[in-house]
Amino acid sequence: MTSNSIVHTIPKARNLTVKELNEYDHILVMFSGGKDSVACHLNLLQLGVDQSKIELWHHDIDGREGERLFDWAITRDYCQKYAEAFNVPIYFSWLEGGFEREMTRNNQKKSRTWFEVPNDDGDVYLHSAGGTRGKEATRMKFPQIGADLSTRWCSAYLKIDVATAAIINQERFQNTKTLVITGERGEESANRARYEMFEPDRSDNRNGKRVVRIVDHWRPIRDWKEGRVWAIMAEYKVNPHPAYRLGFGRCSCLFCIFGNADQFETARFISPLQGAKLAELEDKFSEFHGKRVTMKRKDSLHDLYAKGQVYEATKQNPKLVQLANSETFDEPIILNNWTLPNGAYSESCGPT
Ligand code: SF4
Repeated sequence: MTSNSIVHTIPKARNLTVKELNEYDHILVMFSGGKDSVACHLNLLQLGVDQSKIELWHHDIDGREGERLFDWAITRDYCQKYAEAFNVPIYFSWLEGGFEREMTRNNQKKSRTWFEVPNDDGDVYLHSAGGTRGKEATRMKFPQIGADLSTRWCSAYLKIDVATAAIINQERFQNTKTLVITGERGEESANRARYEMFEPDRSDNRNGKRVVRIVDHWRPIRDWKEGRVWAIMAEYKVNPHPAYRLGFGRCSCLFCIFGNADQFETARFISPLQGAKLAELEDKFSEFHGKRVTMKRKDSLHDLYAKGQVYEATKQNPKLVQLANSETFDEPIILNNWTLPNGAYSESCGPT
């Protein structure tokens, strides 16, 4: 098939119709397990999109080779169980060595990307790409807090680039039409409010001479308020990720660099080992650079932990803390009696 043989009408409206959605061969929902990614998937179900085209994609922030540093222990299995409950395939992908390897790069190349690939029989295989080219570089510091993805590199290196590599390196996306869906909402920051709702994805290659790949990127909930996200979760009775019931307003990394003192102290309370390791790394980075190199501009992590207060919902819920620290999500995904979690409408402190 050549580029001329793929008919692709670019949707005019920012809100795609079911007909437009069903014209894609693949619909990939980037699925962190947080409420916004859940809302993106449920929105497709509500619209009545052909479910055989939908896949969930989850990026393991810490990779699978080293220790857990930033992520919640429960997240991977929560995502897996969610996919099973809705009978939708889920594929995992990650940068080898994850957050820690990229952060502690010392005269090294970026590592390779691992991603799961289904075959025609429905079996899933692990593939990898990259890791051999590119310049050797040194970081030995945390990502910087801000909107610029070159300095706040965690989102770019551990999520966006991983998805791009996994699409580019799978033949099944060649000569087909693919829609990538992400759940950024404008309410979270002025920067996000300016994101395009619909545009070609970074992996798009519709005018390629050798390889043709049509990939669009849609942000269907950019203009949704938080209330609408919880409303669709309530409608489908989806049990939210334990983070929300522990009082967190958003769920992505447990120790997100954007977190405030209360979030950091709560995260440390939930996972003291991860909290201590991050503080150790901060000391190591300062030693390496011969000057103070902290995650936050003003406070060291030790100071931040000392200033914070553990969320009441976390203090009063040891069983839920245990679940958050477990690698098995043994609660139902669909609840009989759905209630709004403690963290709903609370501080979110997420990426700008
Ligand atoms: S959740 Fe926070 S720490 Fe994790 S990748 Fe996103 S910005 Fe970085």
